[in-house]
Amino acid sequence: MKKFFYQCSNCGKHYQRDEVRYLCPLCARDYRPGVPLIGVLSARFDYGAIRKQFRKEKPDWNLFSAVEEKFFPPFPVGNTPFFQSVALGKETGFDDVWLKNDGLNPSASLKDRASFLVVAEANRLGEKTIVAASTGNAASALAAVCAAAGKRALIFVPANAPKAKLAQMILYGATVVPVRGTYDDAFRLSLEYTAKRGGLNRNTAYHPLTIEGKKTVGLEIWQQNHWRVPDVILVPTGDGVIISGVHKAFCDLKAAGLISRLPRLVCVQAEKSNAIDHYVVSGIYENAVNPDTIADSISVSIPSNAHLARQAILDSGGFSITVSDAEILAGQRMLAAKTGVFAEPASSAVVAALKKLRGSRRIGRRDQVVLLITGHGLKDVESALHGLRLPSAVSPTLAAVEAALKARARKEPS
Ligand SMILES: *Cc1c(COP(=O)(O)O)cnc(C)c1O
Ligand SMILES: [Zn+2]
Repeated sequence: MKKFFYQCSNCGKHYQRDEVRYLCPLCARDYRPGVPLIGVLSARFDYGAIRKQFRKEKPDWNLFSAVEEKFFPPFPVGNTPFFQSVALGKETGFDDVWLKNDGLNPSASLKDRASFLVVAEANRLGEKTIVAASTGNAASALAAVCAAAGKRALIFVPANAPKAKLAQMILYGATVVPVRGTYDDAFRLSLEYTAKRGGLNRNTAYHPLTIEGKKTVGLEIWQQNHWRVPDVILVPTGDGVIISGVHKAFCDLKAAGLISRLPRLVCVQAEKSNAIDHYVVSGIYENAVNPDTIADSISVSIPSNAHLARQAILDSGGFSITVSDAEILAGQRMLAAKTGVFAEPASSAVVAALKKLRGSRRIGRRDQVVLLITGHGLKDVESALHGLRLPSAVSPTLAAVEAALKARARKEPS
């Protein structure tokens, strides 16, 4: 028997693991689609036992896992690179800038972590179908894990999701239902579907283990950082589950007495998809009316996890910031040119934010800053091309090459 229970983040009530599946039944009575989720559940472990059993020489991460290892699908996720970039630090005006490159997960986004754990839970429960609404990455991740686990993935996505993400989910064998509408429409539809037809719903924050799955990125950062807590972590934020997961990692570590402080979390949103930012800054929640941005993965009108995300940001001593699409594209180019990392627009938003924070004193120049890179750039080549000019072709002669390079040098003096 696993030593954890669920606690409602709204009313505080405790539930045994198999007493509940999604939201707190009491608080969710008042939930109707159109507002952020109410009564999101949080897993609470036996922190005293973890403190006694956890050893850095041989870390047993199963102590922090809400699903037993025997249910894990054969689809290794995580263990992505964590490294310093001196060049990006110089460019942005900070001394100690690090990247956690979660775009290098198997389906090329951090979403693999959440899908992995929910599919493990489906194994435990004997559920054969897993249902999800997604802007694209959660669906491609779920489709990938389901392929490996021999499960059926039923997916609702906005019809205008980037082509590579659609190709991924179809290729992995998912049942894909493109919705003529927004991500918020897809979210509501998938809830209606599982309420009527069953299957395990993987919607972000709605299934509590999405937060637990995403938590593993925070645990890894701590380990890869030689058991030190970074000062600041910048997190691209849509529904607010990744940022809550990162916060949960460090809260769990603190509760187990393994660390003594939390990293400050910086929520980065796109200017028009800024519901959580507005909530943090003003204290008042409002849906984002028109969450139009090139960063599709963080485009959401009604962030499902807005309440917990705001708490996480404030509790960590962090803050929130927004960036424009032009800044995101410039961030994408800077990241690629200075580090060799090609990130999708949502992830590039954190680079744009860091650039914007130069000299603001909201982050100390000497602070250790981690940029969470959540998705690979190859998932959305079309967006990247918005900011680029492809050079025209030359005749296959050395003379033509030299003439072309000379002309370019004149145009772009270095
Ligand atoms: C989902 C996603 C995000 C945002 O995560 P939330 O939990 O929705 O805040 C950021 N970047 C990428 C690449 C994503 O796929
Ligand atoms: Zn409750």
